Amino acid sequence: IYPDGRRNSRGINLNVESQFRPLIDAMTPFLERDYRAGPLVGYDLDRNDGELRDVVCPWDHQRTVGQVRWTSADETSRAIDVAWKAFPDWNDTPVEQRAAILERFADLMEKHTPELMALCCMEGGKLLPDGVAEVREAVDFCRYYAARARDIFEAPTVLPGPTGESNELIMQGKGVFATISPWNFPIAIFCGQTVAAAVTGNTVLAKPAEQTSLVAHRVVELLHEAGMPRGVVQLLPGDGATVGAVLSSDRRITGIAFTGSTGTAQLINRSLAARDNAPLPTLVAETGGLNAMIVDSTALPEQVVKDVVVSSYQSAGQRCSALRVLYVQEDIAERVIDTLKGAMAELNIGDPTKLATDVGPVIDDEARQGLQAHIDRLKGEGRLIAETAIDPAIAANGTFIAPTAFRIDGIDALETEQFGPILHVATFRAADIDAVIDTINERGYGLTFGVHSRNETFANRVARRIRVGNVYVNRNIIGAVVGVQPFGGQGFSGTGPKAGGPHYLLRFANEKTRTINT
Ligand code: GLU
Repeated sequence: IYPDGRRNSRGINLNVESQFRPLIDAMTPFLERDYRAGPLVGYDLDRNDGELRDVVCPWDHQRTVGQVRWTSADETSRAIDVAWKAFPDWNDTPVEQRAAILERFADLMEKHTPELMALCCMEGGKLLPDGVAEVREAVDFCRYYAARARDIFEAPTVLPGPTGESNELIMQGKGVFATISPWNFPIAIFCGQTVAAAVTGNTVLAKPAEQTSLVAHRVVELLHEAGMPRGVVQLLPGDGATVGAVLSSDRRITGIAFTGSTGTAQLINRSLAARDNAPLPTLVAETGGLNAMIVDSTALPEQVVKDVVVSSYQSAGQRCSALRVLYVQEDIAERVIDTLKGAMAELNIGDPTKLATDVGPVIDDEARQGLQAHIDRLKGEGRLIAETAIDPAIAANGTFIAPTAFRIDGIDALETEQFGPILHVATFRAADIDAVIDTINERGYGLTFGVHSRNETFANRVARRIRVGNVYVNRNIIGAVVGVQPFGGQGFSGTGPKAGGPHYLLRFANEKTRTINT
C-alpha cells in the first residue's frame, strides 16, 4: 500500500511451496488446452474471410497451441466504422462507470491468473515468474489508470474569471485510438495501452503482436465480461503490414499507442503524417533501447554480476529495458568477468514450465536467426567471453539461444539493439568516464541505465548526466513497477509520457474549457 492509499497487486511468491503449488496445479490443465480463437474482430462483424493461422509453441515445436483468424484489411476498416460510431456515447459515459470496468477487469484477470500464465508460457515462451509478473503488471495498470482517470476526469478544474463569468477546464477523449502492442509483454503492455485509451473516453482498436494473439484474445474476453462494451474495445489480431497499414492510414484514427521497434514507430509516424485531410494525430511510442550500465572500481563484483545476469538474461533478454552494454572500470574488470563466467555457467536453459529454468526460448525462428547471426559474427572476431551450455535435445525442439557475453570496445560497436540474451562488455579508465557518458548519450537511445558504485558522488553525477528515462543505482535495470518506476524513455527510445506514471493518461485526452456567462 502506498501513501496515497493505492495498492499494487500482491502476486505469488514462487519460492514458497504453499503459494506456488496451488498455482501450478491450477495452471496445468490449461497447458494442455487447444485454443482456437475463432471469430475475433469486434464481435459485431461477420467474419470468415480472414486467414486461419496455427500458433506453435516456441519451446516445443511439436505442440500447436491453437489457431487464430487473422483480420483482413476490409475487416479492419469495418472495425474502424464500429469504433467511430461508438465514440460519442462512450466519451459521454461518466468516468466512474469507465473506471469501474477497469477495476472489475483487474479482479477478473487476478482470478484467471493460472490460465493467463499458461497462455503466456505456451504462446510466448514465458517463464513462471515472468507470467506472474505479467498478470500483476496488467492488474496494476488497470487499477492505477482507473484511479488517475477519476482524478483527471471526475470534476472539472475550476478556473478564475471576472464577476459574472464561470470558467472550467474539462478533459475528454480524443476519438478512435489504435493500440499496437508487442509479444514480449503480451498481457501487461497490451492491457496498459488499451485500458488507458478506453478509460479516457476513446474507443479502441487493439492490435496484438502476431505471435501472441491467443492470450490477447482471452484478455479481451475478460475485458468484455467486466462490462467493456464490445464496440468500445475491439481486437484485431493479424499481420502488422495489413492491419497496421489500414490503421495508420485511415483518417478517422485519432491516435496510436505503439510499443515495438524504433523502425516501426517511424513507419507509423510517416504513415499518420501522410494522410490527406486528416486531423493532426497523437503518437505515443515506446520503442527500443541500447541500455548500458557503468560500474566503477568501488562497486561490489558479486552484487554487480547478480544484477547484470538478471538485467541481461531474465526473459531471455527480450525486454526493451534489458542490459546490452556493460562498462566496467578496468581495475576490477577481470574480477567482474570471472564472476560473470561462473554465474553464466549456473544458468538452466529450457522448459519454461519448470521452476528450475532460468532462461526460456526466444520468441520465434526469425528472432533466433537474427541473434545467431550476431553471435556468429562476434565469435568470428574472437570476442566471446562465455556462453552457457544448452542441452542439444532442448535446443533442437525450440527456438533457444544460449546466454552469451562478448567483449566490445564500446556502444558504438553495435549497430542495432539485439533483442535476446546477449551481453556486451567494455572497459574504461577512470579518466575517461565523461567520454563514456557522452558516447552513450550521443548514441541516441535513452531508455534504461544502471550505475553501480559505492561512491555516492560518482553515482549521482553519472545518474544526473545520462539522458534516459529510467536510471537504476546499485540494482538491476529491469522490471519497472506501475506507479513506482513509471516506464519509458526519450530519443530513439520513445515519445513519452511514461507508462504507469501520473501523466500517461493526459496524452489520450483533449482539454476543453467551458465559459458560462452567469
Ligand atoms: N517495463 C519493462 C521493464 O521494466 C520493459 C517493457 C518492455 O520491454 O517493453 O522491464
